[in-house]
Amino acid sequence: MMKYPLTITSILNRARIYFPRKEVVTRLPGSIHRYSYADLYTRVCRLSNVLSSLGVEKGDRVGVFGWNTYRYLEAYFAAPCMGAVVHTINIRLAPNDLVHIINHAKDKVLLIDEDLLPAIEAIAPRLETVKQFVVMTDDEIASQGLPNAHDYETLMAQASDSYDFPELGEDDPAGLCYTSATTGDPKGVTYSHRGLYLHTLTQCMTDSLSLSERDVILPVVPMFHANTWGVPYTSAFLGATLVLPGPRPDAAAVCNLIQQEKVTISLGVPTIWIGVLDYVARSEGSCDLSSLRSLVSGGSAVPPYMFRAFDDMGIPMTHAYGMTEATPLVTICNYKSHMESWDDDAKMNVRVKQGLPVAGLEIRLVDENGTDLPWDGVNSGELLVRGPWVAGEYLDDERSGDTFIDGWYHTGDVVTVDPEGYVQIVDRAKDMVKSGGEWISSVDLEAAIMAHPAVYEAAVIGIPHDRWQERPLAYVVPTAEHRDSLDRDTVLAHLEDKFARWWLPDDVIFIDEMPKTAVGKFDKKVLRQQYASAAPTAPTTSGGTQ
Ligand code: AMP
Repeated sequence: MMKYPLTITSILNRARIYFPRKEVVTRLPGSIHRYSYADLYTRVCRLSNVLSSLGVEKGDRVGVFGWNTYRYLEAYFAAPCMGAVVHTINIRLAPNDLVHIINHAKDKVLLIDEDLLPAIEAIAPRLETVKQFVVMTDDEIASQGLPNAHDYETLMAQASDSYDFPELGEDDPAGLCYTSATTGDPKGVTYSHRGLYLHTLTQCMTDSLSLSERDVILPVVPMFHANTWGVPYTSAFLGATLVLPGPRPDAAAVCNLIQQEKVTISLGVPTIWIGVLDYVARSEGSCDLSSLRSLVSGGSAVPPYMFRAFDDMGIPMTHAYGMTEATPLVTICNYKSHMESWDDDAKMNVRVKQGLPVAGLEIRLVDENGTDLPWDGVNSGELLVRGPWVAGEYLDDERSGDTFIDGWYHTGDVVTVDPEGYVQIVDRAKDMVKSGGEWISSVDLEAAIMAHPAVYEAAVIGIPHDRWQERPLAYVVPTAEHRDSLDRDTVLAHLEDKFARWWLPDDVIFIDEMPKTAVGKFDKKVLRQQYASAAPTAPTTSGGTQ
């Protein structure tokens, strides 16, 4: 066999050669920007020249701080194809975390969306390695508040539109993304060209996301979240139309884009889809999402009611699971052929699972001593993963040894695996509630609470308890119509026939808005802090129902 390096450059070249007229569409404030993959290629060449002229060399990190737009896409290709590394920076991080990751990554150049400039200007004096700042704007106004600031389009206009991309090794670093840690600073994951390329291939498989040239793909997941779940590279590789949702995409923007661009597949976290369901319900039939052949939901568990709600609209929702450390795809939930004839309840029992590991990955299920557990759908333990697109370490981080052990990535997710090989998340290890020595799954409680028609969002945390050590507490955002009428007893009564009594939350706290993490998941860290500051002492035995 030929020794053929698997690189992002060959993905870009495929888009240029075979799909030059297919489009990249970006929603911008008040307008839609369109160009072709041929245009993308030319601009990637220009950006590579720009980055070279700013001093970027092989192995250097180029940070990007922006919304999902065509300019971000240009950086997704230019940095890796010229031999540098694209560092996708989470725009919602706190200033100290931003300073940490930009310094830790040793970013040499930062590309910043104009409307996000204040966040970078505020920390610029603390950035130790950034030599040049490039503002992604149409206007000729570089930031006044940053040293060595340039505006993107002026540099692009001055740059040559051809670039001789170097031969790269497939193990060369191409991307870098930080994931938040339970404690301590965010941890960096470096992606190799090879890992990204193989991840791209797996997304094209029929039994995976089954993406194809015919698709019009809308990643609502931010481009700073785990390589946009791989979508930009896969779209270019296949020549699929890529639709980027631009700044602050809300449910209305997502629905309008789906309708206008005839999107066939869209990907995002469940909070996005909660918003879309609510928007569709309020739009009284004026919102047409019939072009969709699939919605992919990942990042946190999809509650069963959500599958049913989209089924009622004739839109299949597919459950996917992964993490920053795995590029991110680990499992996808598709039926095996013999399941197609199962009745609806049996099928729903499959759909709520996170799914089968995608081809190319291996998994194990282990107890706290590292002993393998049976795949019987009952025994739960930690999920371990290995494969060609799973990280082997965190970037320059002593904590690597706690997570990457003997060639396996320890996910920290507590799961069951059924005899067919389908993985189901019971909970994040850190989110499970240990009450009187027994485990309660916050995921199960949340799914059940959110199935109540008066509930918009719900999250369950464990709170300290002097008798049971921990008890579940539910935070609930009612739907707009039930803001004033939903009460604690109604929520608890709704759970009574679904769980043992000792599983029921000790209390229900109603809030107007659910705090969300930087990637749109319910932020239980904030809820725990809110609880701790409101109730500094642990509750006494009253309220415990075990
Ligand atoms: P991140 O690296 O931010 O993508 O977070 C990865 C973590 O999100 C995983 O380890 C899981 O705990 C959680 N997660 C991702 N996808 C799912 C899913 N489909 N269901 C439940 N939890 C998920």
